[in-house]
Amino acid sequence: MSDEEDEKPRHFHEMELDDRILKAIAKLGWLQPTMIQEKAIPLLLEGKDVLVRARTGSGKTAAFAIPVIQRILCSKKLATEQAIKALILAPSKELCHQICGVVKDLTYKCSREVRCIDIAPQVDLSVQKPLLVEKPDIVVGTPARTLQHLKAGNLNLKKSLEMVVVDEADLVFSFGYEDEIKELMGYMPKIYQAILASATLSNDVKNLKSLILHNPVTLKLEEPDLAPASSKQNLYCSCFGLVCK
Ligand code: AMP
Repeated sequence: MSDEEDEKPRHFHEMELDDRILKAIAKLGWLQPTMIQEKAIPLLLEGKDVLVRARTGSGKTAAFAIPVIQRILCSKKLATEQAIKALILAPSKELCHQICGVVKDLTYKCSREVRCIDIAPQVDLSVQKPLLVEKPDIVVGTPARTLQHLKAGNLNLKKSLEMVVVDEADLVFSFGYEDEIKELMGYMPKIYQAILASATLSNDVKNLKSLILHNPVTLKLEEPDLAPASSKQNLYCSCFGLVCK
């Protein structure tokens, strides 16, 4: 094993994460980071843009949610004003709901400091407007729904947004959100950290990469789905393949 391999954090507590996140991880019963978490979290904590090829079941949601929460907790130590810091885009309402659930689980010890709302449900925009006026730290939504709120003036990302995540980026294009994504870019600030997670690295994803990411690190991981609790120990002993550019 190389020196570099030796230095990679093997446990969540070696990642310099806020105690409140570590407590939430412990409550979830996660003993170790999955491979994608082990590789992606340190890069994201360094502030790098990352394109990660990972399937559902790999632990990808927490791989981007943990650094997002950590960054918000750090910035709260200095910030005087409440602001929307992270936007997480996903292609379906169901996925948005799941992502928000993972963020809530990971912030159960700091739910007052880090608030997340899901704007994907198709209720009248006016129902969600008051929630956005309060400037939740994290907004999760489909590209179309997010654009509707931006156009209605319910959401202003230009001044405060620091992180953009696009989950299941390959599906974002196949669900027909290409135009919305391009239009959304006009509402983003000039500088932000971006993360793309995708099951495949199709040409569509490469287009999205050039649109959203700046000098990204690309992680291509091959790993089995997370196994049931009883066989998790074996999962972490199995052989994984990784290409990191
Ligand atoms: P995802 O790929 O994000 O959809 O996650 C798949 C499943 O893995 C979810 O049920 C998570 O709760 C679970 N999970 C995520 N990270 C870990 C971990 N480090 N250890 C055990 N289970 C995890």
